Amino acid sequence: MSNFQDNPSVGNPNNKFDGENETPLKWAYEMDKTQFKYRCPCKKGYHAHGNGGDPDTNRVEHRSSHCAMYGGDVRIAITEETPRVW
Ligand SMILES: [Zn+2]
Repeated sequence: MSNFQDNPSVGNPNNKFDGENETPLKWAYEMDKTQFKYRCPCKKGYHAHGNGGDPDTNRVEHRSSHCAMYGGDVRIAITEETPRVW
């Protein structure tokens, strides 16, 4: 089994790309007071981005990824299933 499964509620993990703009959509698997994290199949295994001071609201964040796996924009879904840890 892969260690990098995304939450199935966000969609089939094989459908990494949105049909319209092909921006990858990831699920935030963890949120703390200052940042959220999403898993990545790269060597590091995950990436974290600042949450803009709002750890509570469910939303989709757009970020520019520095990871070669994406090489550009990525969207991260923060849902009611994203664990808030602090
Ligand atoms: Zn990565």
